[in-house]
Amino acid sequence: MIERTLVILKPDTVQRGLVGEIIQRIEKTTLKVVAMKMVYASKEQAGEHYADDQEWLISVGEKTLKSAEKKGIKLSRTALEQGQWVRQMLMNYITMSPSVVLVIEGHSAVAKIRMLCGGTSPQEATPGTIRGDYAVDSYMLADASERPVQNLIHASGTIEEAKREIKIWFTDNEIHVFKRVDEDLIYRKGSS
Ligand code: ADP
Ligand code: MG
Repeated sequence: MIERTLVILKPDTVQRGLVGEIIQRIEKTTLKVVAMKMVYASKEQAGEHYADDQEWLISVGEKTLKSAEKKGIKLSRTALEQGQWVRQMLMNYITMSPSVVLVIEGHSAVAKIRMLCGGTSPQEATPGTIRGDYAVDSYMLADASERPVQNLIHASGTIEEAKREIKIWFTDNEIHVFKRVDEDLIYRKGSS
């Protein structure tokens, strides 16, 4: 199924000069870049993107608590408190320095891009993934330093999340309709 997903190359990617490197990885999969721009996110965009949504906040917190538990560390915050704290740090971070936002389109785009990204914590992300290859940060280091995990890239987690997020960053006429030259091959029918 052809899907669209939102990617943000976060301030650490822009500051480290890894924008081209990461976009190249995405393009090489044959997924198509259909929108792209550099933005200084506003407080409103940051607040909408990292929504004050209980379910998401708890899921963010739970990932951190589980990772700490594996290391034998017991955190004093609840999952919700941890998620709320991370949200504040993310909103500050993404408004402090420019990011590059993109819409990526193609077969299974949402899951494929998430696989390219690798796990949330670069320390635990598989080598070969973007976060695994270009970063070493961890929940513990980030939390001790009172900043978000620097994992270079945001990618929508589900098709619904992608639809909601794309609207925050792009108007309809900023998303382009065109054909890549390799599409005839990629989406070829058996008889042709
Ligand atoms: P993902 O980006 O893999 O979808 P989440 O949606 O769970 O991850 O979290 C959003 C972002 O919040 C992460 O990409 C990361 O930058 C940051 N983050 C998550 N947990 C923590 C934490 N415990 N401490 C600092 N930053 C965190
Ligand atoms: Mg997420």
